[in-house]
Amino acid sequence: MFASLSDRITQALSSLRGKGRLSDADIAASIGEIRRALLDADVALPVVRDFTATVRERAEQAELSKVLNPAQQIVKIVHEELTRILGGHTRDLRFAKRGPTVYLLAGLQGAGKTTLAGKLGKWLREQGHTPLLVAADLQRPNAVQQLQIVGDGAGVAVWAPEPGNGVGNPVEVARTGVQHARDAFYDVVVVDTAGRLGVDAEMMQQAADIRDAVDPQEILFVIDAMIGQDAVTTANAFAEGVGFTGVVLSKLDGDARGGAALSVASITGVPVMFASTGEKVGDFERFHADRMASRILDMGDVMTLIEQAERAFDEEQAAEMAAKIAGDGDFTLEDFLVQMQQMRQLGSMKKMLGMLPGMGQIREQLENFDEREVDRVEAIVRSMTPEERRTPKIINGSRRSRIARGSGVTVTEVNGLLDRFEQAKTMMRSMARGGGAPGVPGGFG
Ligand code: GDP
Repeated sequence: MFASLSDRITQALSSLRGKGRLSDADIAASIGEIRRALLDADVALPVVRDFTATVRERAEQAELSKVLNPAQQIVKIVHEELTRILGGHTRDLRFAKRGPTVYLLAGLQGAGKTTLAGKLGKWLREQGHTPLLVAADLQRPNAVQQLQIVGDGAGVAVWAPEPGNGVGNPVEVARTGVQHARDAFYDVVVVDTAGRLGVDAEMMQQAADIRDAVDPQEILFVIDAMIGQDAVTTANAFAEGVGFTGVVLSKLDGDARGGAALSVASITGVPVMFASTGEKVGDFERFHADRMASRILDMGDVMTLIEQAERAFDEEQAAEMAAKIAGDGDFTLEDFLVQMQQMRQLGSMKKMLGMLPGMGQIREQLENFDEREVDRVEAIVRSMTPEERRTPKIINGSRRSRIARGSGVTVTEVNGLLDRFEQAKTMMRSMARGGGAPGVPGGFG
């Protein structure tokens, strides 16, 4: 899902890459393209309008950052705004202080509620809860049986209507289900409700009646991410008819454009809490707006990297370094040392490597980065004269032995350092040409 949206946004942003300064026209062209991509992906018009207006405004007012290049700044803004329309920060499920917690599932028929009940049940069980699924969908033939199968697959108990606990009356089934949970010490009850193919008053009333009977901590509105523009109408109808506290996007594994689903959080002001990504009981995950935005921007976790870089680098120092690297080669061993120290500040290099898309060769070099190495490099560089640090070319054989003795390492290690310095110089220069900040290799892969 979102593959084409993702391609187009990435493309719109990549046209900014490598530019030293962005004109208003550059920014407008990229934002225009992103706007068309969102509309083509079925994202609702008011959401698109709000999004593009905010991005434009922020881009125009963006402070000149010395750490991020202009294209990176725009990516950062687009990412933050995309995260915002997807509902922002992920909220945890609410639990009852006393008695069983109740979650009510609402949504159209076929949205994926019954499947979700099983997924949620399994997930809750894994979190240490003892859930009970309640089959209050008495509309659809086989819905009760389906929930029983789903419950079996998830290893979760199911409360189904039987003579005495409300055959034919979903409100009664829900009520007795919660009572049973209380008696039998289940701590969470997931109530599956009936849906219709279209929104109708009777279904809405039934869901509202169940809600009033069981007083749920959360009402989760399940919506098929593939339903297109109808998503907004449907979401609004449910918001009005039953109300809901969380959204679950189902069928995110499909290849529909999915943009309508992206509008729901923004239109209703209710966050997306979970994503359903397949028919199997394990195809289920917490929804993180920021990660989804990263996925749509197709950047691995390059955003995390940008943030880490911003935190770790002293802006002045970084600007100085960038000028040196991009400039005419007065990148010295001292600079090399400072840079290695900054890399150490960036935290575990290995972790960073995983976040960088398409960094094959550099990844390999950095894969061997040993943080203790920084100490050795420091010792070696400190044993050099200022002139040697500035002009490593003059370091001949006898100077190498002297430096090795002074720093307590072998001549081979000094040679190794000088080789790596030359490599780094070449590498950093080619990166600088690509427009990346120092230590943040490359543009965006
Ligand atoms: P309900 O009517 O809302 O209870 O919907 P169901 O749970 O019965 O789901 C309707 C259909 O969608 C079933 O065939 C499910 O297997 C399928 N389904 C549910 N969730 C997903 C999902 O995340 N991905 C895919 N591919 N199919 C799903």
